[in-house]
Amino acid sequence: MTSKIAILAGDGIGPEIIAAAEKVIECLRQDFAFAAELEPAAIGGAGYDQHGQPLPEQTLDICKQADAILFGAIGGPQYDGLAGELRPEKGLLNLRSSLSLFSNLRPAILYPQLASASSLKSELVAGLDIMIVRELTGGIYFGGPRGIREREDGSREGFNTMVYAEHEIERIARSAFDIARLRNRGLCSVDKANVLEVSELWREVVDRVAEDYADVTVSHLYVDNAAMQLVRAPRQFDVIVTGNLFGDILSDTAAMLTGSIGMLPSASLDENGKGMFEPVHGSAPDIAGNNLANPLATILSLAMMLRYSLQQPQLAELIEAAVGAVLDQGLRTADIAAGASSVGTREMGDAVVAAIRAAGGR
Ligand code: NAD
Repeated sequence: MTSKIAILAGDGIGPEIIAAAEKVIECLRQDFAFAAELEPAAIGGAGYDQHGQPLPEQTLDICKQADAILFGAIGGPQYDGLAGELRPEKGLLNLRSSLSLFSNLRPAILYPQLASASSLKSELVAGLDIMIVRELTGGIYFGGPRGIREREDGSREGFNTMVYAEHEIERIARSAFDIARLRNRGLCSVDKANVLEVSELWREVVDRVAEDYADVTVSHLYVDNAAMQLVRAPRQFDVIVTGNLFGDILSDTAAMLTGSIGMLPSASLDENGKGMFEPVHGSAPDIAGNNLANPLATILSLAMMLRYSLQQPQLAELIEAAVGAVLDQGLRTADIAAGASSVGTREMGDAVVAAIRAAGGR
């Protein structure tokens, strides 16, 4: 069966890192009989420039019809002055909610070759392999009422609402328990139940779902403690499940444990396993257009796509092994080179393709 893949390059370094991943797809097509049709579409600032909207209607249609979506990055200083609904980030948030991509998987894996790149001591992080499961379509980023209003004394106040319906908590909990079962069967749920009622309900529902997963060990941590534990003794974690806001912050913290945000892939899945796959990092306007971006997070996102949406685990493993092989060869983009000599985005992408071909015997 031919897989339809929507390709959303976006802004900044987006087109450069996506070009590297497209070369990998082309290699899989030519050498490994991977049947895929690619459909490019505009999003974010590029969507606004081309169609006046950060999520143009035609882009949403293409994404709805696709089996999976490969996403680069969005945003840039030239769009910072746009009104809320037109901002690039809105395109991404709306796409996630339009497709009900509620389960965000953010692995934080420390490649042994890069152990010295972590800001923590190697002995604390060597062999780190955490999966953060972040609820993505609810919580305070979407809750209402929200806004900035005038108070009686004429001054202003800003306000947002953190809200989770029971069914939203239950489905993200189930998604996280299922993932824990595929790993080391440890699940830590993170909330702020000592202060927030929304977290009280979160904890209650997670405990209820846990009854169906007796083989998974469940623990609960307040988010402040979880942040502390992540930098104190991160290897204690297997899978972490948490809401949208806490997950946003903790997954970036976990990202830094691994040394480079340029190495981290992510997946956002709906209830049927259809997903969008994207690097954790943003559009890096400071290095865009200079062949400096690390394409590995995007290439590893492609591997996650093959595993979680397209049922091609062997191809996923082939890509992941090729990334390990180029790191073994000593190839580094500037962000992971620690001052030593480095290669560019294109060269790194080409090296991964060569390693895949080598592993495939061609
Ligand atoms: P960022 O992730 O773009 O960049 C942070 C730092 O990491 C920068 O120094 C950047 O050069 C570096 N970096 C990021 N990705 C890299 C890569 N692949 N290789 C090498 N270095 C890399 O975050 P930011 O600077 O806070 O935001 C820049 C823009 O990106 C903003 O407009 C923001 O809104 C947007 N953003 C988009 C997404 C997304 O598309 N999912 C996520 C976060 C931020």
